[in-house]
Order: sequence, then C-alpha cells, then structure tokens
Amino acid sequence: MIVVACIKQVPDTTQVQIDPVTNTLVRDGIPFIINPYDGHALEESLRLKDSHGFKAVALSMGPPNAEATLRKALALGADRSILLSDRVFGGADTLSTSNVLSAAIDKLREDEEVGIVFCGKQTIDGDTAQVGPGIAVRLGFSQLTLVDRIEKIDLVERTITVRRKLEGRYEIVEARLPAMITVVRELNRPRYPTVPMRLASAKAEVEVWSNEQLQLDVNSVGLKGSPTWVSRIFSPERKEGEIVGDGMNDPAGAARLLLERLIEGDMLAV
Ligand SMILES: Cc1cc2nc3c(=O)[nH]c(=O)nc-3n(C[C@H](O)[C@H](O)[C@H](O)COP(=O)(O)OP(=O)(O)OC[C@H]3O[C@@H](n4cnc5c(N)ncnc54)[C@H](O)[C@@H]3O)c2cc1C
Repeated sequence: MIVVACIKQVPDTTQVQIDPVTNTLVRDGIPFIINPYDGHALEESLRLKDSHGFKAVALSMGPPNAEATLRKALALGADRSILLSDRVFGGADTLSTSNVLSAAIDKLREDEEVGIVFCGKQTIDGDTAQVGPGIAVRLGFSQLTLVDRIEKIDLVERTITVRRKLEGRYEIVEARLPAMITVVRELNRPRYPTVPMRLASAKAEVEVWSNEQLQLDVNSVGLKGSPTWVSRIFSPERKEGEIVGDGMNDPAGAARLLLERLIEGDMLAV
C-alpha cells in the first residue's frame, strides 16, 4: 500500500519581495524551502513506512527546480519522488493544482493501492488550504483536516482514527481508507537527513512526469484550467511610526532599544 505526501516548494518568506510595478512576487535569486506543514506530512508518511510497511511516495507539482525539494524527500527516506512539471501546468490556481495532483495519485493507483494522502494544512505562500480537500473530493477519499495525531490504522477493517486539533478542543474521528489527511505542526518532529542518505539521494532518480504521462485535457490544467486569478497582490501600507531595531534578526537588541525609547518618553510606570 502506498502513502503519498504532497509537498510544495515555497519561497523562504522572510526574504520575499513584491515587485511594485507588476504586483507579483520577485522569485529570482531567493532560496526555496519545503512548505513547513508539508515537512510534517512527509515525516508522517515516513513513519507509516517504518511502522506499517507502506511505500512512501513524495509528490510535487512545480517548476524543474522543485526537483531539489523532492531530492530532499529521498534523502529523508521516501521510496519514490515524483515531480509533476510541464509548461501547461504553469499559472495554476488551486483547482487546477488539485486536478494535476489527483491525476498523478490516480496514476499511482494503477500499479498499487493508495491508502493515505498527506498534505499540509496550508502553504505559507498561497495560504488557501484548498488543495488537500480538492484532492479528496476528486479521488472520493475520506477527508480529515487539521490532524495532529494518528490514533490508529486498522488495515483489516480498512479504517483510520485520527485526532483533529480545533479551536479550544480536540475531535477524535474514525474514517474509511483511503483517506486524505491535512496535518498541523504538532503532529510530529521532522527528521534530518543523515549524511549517507544525503549522498545516496544525490544519485537517486527524481521521476519527472509531464502531461504526456497524465494525459489531462490542457483546458483543465495550468492557467487555462484556472477559473480564478490574482488581480492584485500588495503589502499593507505601514502605519506611521519608527521601526525600533531589527526584531527578526536581533530581538534582544530591539528589546533594549524599545526599553530606551520608553524610558526616554517617560512612558514606564515606576
Ligand atoms: C488564482 C491563482 C493563480 C495562481 N497562479 C500561480 C502562478 O502563476 N504561479 C505559481 O507558482 N503559483 C500560482 N498560484 C499559486 C498556486 O497555484 C498555489 O500555490 C497552489 O495552487 C496551491 O495553493 P496554495 O499554495 O494555496 O496551497 P494550499 O491549498 O494552502 O496547500 C495545502 C497543501 O496542498 C499541498 N499542495 C499545494 N500545492 C501543491 C503543489 N504544487 N505540489 C504538491 N503539493 C501541493 C501541500 O501539501 C499543501 O500543504 C496561483 C494561485 C491562485 C489562487
């Protein structure tokens, strides 16, 4: 049985700039990382590989440079890494992204049963949290969102029991397999790749599937298959006032400066 982890390559957000003329993200020269929630999705797929003998497959749709993200998944222990990359997939909204990822999972099912698909709760760039549910609906899988613990998997009864982390409470839910699960950070602590695994993964193959493999109608993918589009992207205007120090890189220094300003302004009650 296969467990799939959907992992998206995202810009390291602390370094993202917005082009003031085109209102698009400036992606040139910025480092990319695995979307943090997807790191937890990948980790859980690897734990199920270890505990239940699942075959772990990492899946991503993105440009050719997303190969690095998938190679890292191999270094961590994934059995296969598949990059869905084709010019016709470009400019995708969440609907067409879900179409492509579901088609790839369907293709995997031709050879072996897919028991679980893990996704992150959301991405840190798109932030929609729509893709996981989009996959579940397209594949007819049970849909379990915001999961922070896998309680039990019963491969005989073909059920899974999970804990969902909600606002101020938890919910224990049992569902039929196959299931699509979106995960939150509390689920696990991702492992680091060992040096031997990293070296081995440098030679391992990241499979690249284009639309030739998936045979999707080009009108259902990429820009053509996207019924929504971003009309404007912008940072909120900064309110007037002084920025005190650099809290991101030097929080202690910023706190010191802030205290000085409060003392200067006689704003501290004694
Ligand atoms: C209208 C619109 C137009 C867009 N145009 C572009 C564009 O031109 N270029 C561009 O780079 N992006 C574009 N995007 C962003 C891109 O389509 C989205 O990032 C993508 O559809 C996923 O949505 P999200 O980031 O909100 O993911 P969410 O729904 O928040 O992601 C949830 C989870 O789904 C999985 N997932 C999501 N996306 C992927 C993926 N690609 N591969 C593997 N797993 C994934 C991950 O596990 C993730 O944690 C556009 C988005 C919209 C809404």
